[in-house]
Amino acid sequence: NRQVLLNSRPHGAPTPSNFRLENSELPTPADGQVLLRTVYLSLDPYMRGRMSDAPSYAPPVEVGEVMVGGAVCRVEQSRDPNYAEGDWVLANTGWQDYAVSDGKGLIPLGQQLDHPSRSLGVLGMPGFTAYMGLLDIGQPQPGETVVVAAATGAVGSVVGQLAKLKGCRVIGVAGGAKKCKAAVETFGFDECLDHHATDFAQQLTDACSEGIDVYFESVGGKVFDAVLPLLNVKARIPVCGLIAHYNDTHLPAGPDRLPLLMQTFLVRRIKAQGFIIFDDYGPHYGEFLAEMTPWVAEGKVKFIEDVVDGLEHAPDALIGLLEGKNFGKLVVRVGED
Ligand code: NDP
Repeated sequence: NRQVLLNSRPHGAPTPSNFRLENSELPTPADGQVLLRTVYLSLDPYMRGRMSDAPSYAPPVEVGEVMVGGAVCRVEQSRDPNYAEGDWVLANTGWQDYAVSDGKGLIPLGQQLDHPSRSLGVLGMPGFTAYMGLLDIGQPQPGETVVVAAATGAVGSVVGQLAKLKGCRVIGVAGGAKKCKAAVETFGFDECLDHHATDFAQQLTDACSEGIDVYFESVGGKVFDAVLPLLNVKARIPVCGLIAHYNDTHLPAGPDRLPLLMQTFLVRRIKAQGFIIFDDYGPHYGEFLAEMTPWVAEGKVKFIEDVVDGLEHAPDALIGLLEGKNFGKLVVRVGED
């Protein structure tokens, strides 16, 4: 049973030496347990947070422990009457080939699953994040301008498409020409701007001639700096993530801009709300799936997956995710369907 362990805690950007690949014995399920075989492992930005022991909303992975993560798995052996061999399940098994589960937290996905990796992306945690964050916190109204950071990513691509379905004008922000093209041509954004451009702030100002009503925040940094002066009165900011800062080791240098931020919030009466998807919206998961599944089946909501082959490549792929190297929802194919 191959496992990727946290070898040491990163200082700044993670490096390959922060991970260690090991082989352990295949676990045996006891009565009431199942043995799960990982087929697809999800790689997500929150994993950077779990590698640190700084206080957060969830406990860190301890050094020497298996890296955490969600996965679509097949039941290999079952000693639990609720599961049969061959069943598909969504489970938090982490970065390993096999894991034993007592059934807690497992989400059954049936015996037949045509597109297993979708349950980690558009029909899984990131899609759910986009759906609740935009609709519940963002409250987009027809004709409003919505700006979406990390626009071609697992969350951002869904946010943009839902905002279009709600009749908004949608401006994406992404890294590089290929991603910007996909945002417009595949996901139907009205425009998408490259945050690497030296005149990015000016481009955003030009694209948002009527200001910004909803900013879906996943990034922070210079993207937020460019957004702040453009926010309209009563703008909403679902604060979903701050990926540009996940590798920071100290606060940025320069003048204290907090008074400017707070003054903008006060004068323009802005609502910014953070959320942690399953903690805040867990009971709504079924409602999300009921609405999103047909949208995906009918092609109303499209998605791009970035599939990396082999568990041994998971560390490099996560390091790349934090540098914008992924194109679409990042998953690792760990084993055969
Ligand atoms: P993505 O698939 O969007 O991948 C991450 C993307 O972030 C990269 O491709 C890159 O896109 C962008 N990025 C990385 N570093 C930087 C940087 N320094 N500056 C600007 N952009 C950067 O990931 P997800 O869709 O899975 O997650 C998106 C965000 O949502 C993350 O912040 C994540 O933490 C958050 N999230 C929050 C949840 C919650 O419950 N609050 C749940 C799920 C996700 P590009 O090249 O286009 O810049």
